[in-house]
Amino acid sequence: MHRTMRRMAEDVVTMEKIVALCKRRGFIFPASEIYGGIANTYDYGHYGVLLKRNVIDAWWQAMIGDRNDIVALDSAIIQHPRTWEASGHLEGFTDPLVDCKACGQRFRADHLQDLQCGLKPSKHPGETPQCDLTEAREFNLMFETTIGPVKEAGATVYLRPETAQGIFLDFKTVLGFARKKPPFGIAQVGKSFRNEITPGNFVFRTLEFEQMEMEFFVPPDDAQEWHEHWLKERMDWYVRLGIRADHLRLRAHDADELSHYSSATSDVEYLYPIGWQELEGIANRGDFDLTQHAKFSGEKLEYFDTASGERYVPYVIEPAAGVGRTVLAALCDAYDEDEVGGGERTVLRLHPRLAPIKVAILPVVSKDGLPERAQEVFQLLRGQMQAEYDEGGSIGRRYRRQDEIGTPFGVTIDHQTLEDDTVTVRDRDTLEQDRVAIDELPATLGARLAAPWESPKLAAA
Ligand code: ATP
Repeated sequence: MHRTMRRMAEDVVTMEKIVALCKRRGFIFPASEIYGGIANTYDYGHYGVLLKRNVIDAWWQAMIGDRNDIVALDSAIIQHPRTWEASGHLEGFTDPLVDCKACGQRFRADHLQDLQCGLKPSKHPGETPQCDLTEAREFNLMFETTIGPVKEAGATVYLRPETAQGIFLDFKTVLGFARKKPPFGIAQVGKSFRNEITPGNFVFRTLEFEQMEMEFFVPPDDAQEWHEHWLKERMDWYVRLGIRADHLRLRAHDADELSHYSSATSDVEYLYPIGWQELEGIANRGDFDLTQHAKFSGEKLEYFDTASGERYVPYVIEPAAGVGRTVLAALCDAYDEDEVGGGERTVLRLHPRLAPIKVAILPVVSKDGLPERAQEVFQLLRGQMQAEYDEGGSIGRRYRRQDEIGTPFGVTIDHQTLEDDTVTVRDRDTLEQDRVAIDELPATLGARLAAPWESPKLAAA
């Protein structure tokens, strides 16, 4: 541990390093690259998929594994177009857009201070003498498409800009079979789409992205209390995933920032290398959505308590998180550089729960029967945890590779293994190496993966 202390206390991460690491190791890379890429759209490779899946699994665990008052849903991406009239998105889901007649670029009028003008020397848009910005106009962020074979005659529909509305449309149906009553929630994970004017910062802001949203329906009088409950729950969730608490904060929206449906919203923000930015929004949506959909559809969307005879439209507390932003926060928080054996190494100190690969099985050399023995160890472990077998290249380079993808444990098979059936277990963070009997490996690694984990960066701070 001491070897790496000094370097760990410094925060060496930058967005450029994360982007480069993600590409180098195949976590996340630009989409449509053979055609030159498409603006702010990314593909997730093998390790990215595994990391993302671990984030989503942890969210489901918190929503439906650890509690009994939430049910799951997977609603359609394309809903009836009236949905977006009722929700207010058709009219109000807009950002102010300005064009620059000098450089031909478009900017979000409320983000000018964070953006760079297209001219040199680079300044904020509007700050060079040549800049010629138009008046701001409202631009709707929803992607439009058409149902039907003929574009003109077809019905215009929209790719959902948030997953939440599908939950409100199904409120009555779910209430019918879920055997729940307020306070209860409906959770879903899925893709949403926004035609963002100035996307950027890697997967922080993309055109398509996955959301993890939960609508929690409560008696109106209890809404504030439940809002506070979810603020705390959601902050704790990120800390449980190993994100340093001092890189997380809650920020309450000012009145002029609130969405049209919200009476109170607080964001969970993370200290990304680009500064404090929203990771998740937790809103009190009141009865806005159910009331609107009741009005537009003619269906009664309310709760009737048969015991008390009480009838009311529940209020909704909504924690709405982004998968990509959580993946990015986890990567930024875990990124570290230190020195091992006189050489530089890059290491992702991911919480073992999030690590794409939990254990790497590495024969020290690919001869003398070691690969065969290592394959047996791999077969022993792979059913229990995400394991990876790698015999190519020097052992040092294979360790570096596993460190870069955040694998907490490396199991090395050497000549001694052939004599006494033991292997070496190397710890990514402490670099300690223990000799463990092969038949004890599943239990030993299982216990170490399940043990409470604290970021070594935090310990070093
Ligand atoms: P921002 O102010 O950054 O545009 P928002 O307040 O519009 O975000 P919400 O509508 O509250 O975002 O969406 C909930 C979550 O979905 C966000 O906290 C974020 O994690 C994620 N999200 C929203 N838009 C995007 C996007 N374009 N790319 C990636 N993730 C997004």
